Amino acid sequence: MELIRSQLLAELPHGFTTRAGGASAAPFNSLNFGDLVGDDPAAVAENWRQLGEATGLGFARVRQVHGAKVVVGAGPTTPCGEADGVVSATAGVAACVAVADCVPILLARPDGSAVAAVHAGWRGTLERIAAEGVRALAAGGDGEAPLAVIGPSIGPCCYEVSDDLAARFAAAFGRRVIQQGVRGPRLDLWAANERALRDAGVVRVAVLRRCTACEPRLFFSHRRDGGRTGRMVGFIAPISARGPSLTEAGYHLEFPRS
Ligand SMILES: [Zn+2]
Repeated sequence: MELIRSQLLAELPHGFTTRAGGASAAPFNSLNFGDLVGDDPAAVAENWRQLGEATGLGFARVRQVHGAKVVVGAGPTTPCGEADGVVSATAGVAACVAVADCVPILLARPDGSAVAAVHAGWRGTLERIAAEGVRALAAGGDGEAPLAVIGPSIGPCCYEVSDDLAARFAAAFGRRVIQQGVRGPRLDLWAANERALRDAGVVRVAVLRRCTACEPRLFFSHRRDGGRTGRMVGFIAPISARGPSLTEAGYHLEFPRS
């Protein structure tokens, strides 16, 4: 299993999965976490089991619907409730979203007491779900702005969009989020979500700048693979004085830093 991590969240159990490792056969090879993409359910269950074993975490998930709702995770569950962001304040329980080109955003209070994972496709990005995640995390906190990491997703190098969609994004986030390619406009979802986070008061934002469409060895890409492909997950768990320490939770892995 190859996970991608961010230095900004180094103190917290977190990661973005890649397609490396896992039990799924082509075209879902091989670490697919998508339940609804046509993969063998036994292989998907095995992949979840492996991730749980590798990290020592349970995963709070939601049924993603390209909206802008963020909910508090009930615990390690199969997807329950329709939302595109989930909050966890329970040590050992990771907030988790699934993606294959859409933007996974991980958020954490600086003291590590609560975290959130957000799924932002173009619809969620336009609706500023990143800001919803910040708001959901602020509830009950000390008011300090969260840390944010924008994970692997389709980049401005590859994400061609219609003139109409480009115009909507330019109006919402500024012209900087659009690049003019030879075949038409390309959208920078990283810059748009970073803008949404900064407008919501987040100061420390890391953008990993890894394009899922550019790296077929490491990432599933919905657009590159013509819709028939697997899903990766972004996950993050809080740390708590009352909860188990990272070591006690079995979190010993050395992940590649980025
Ligand atoms: Zn690319």
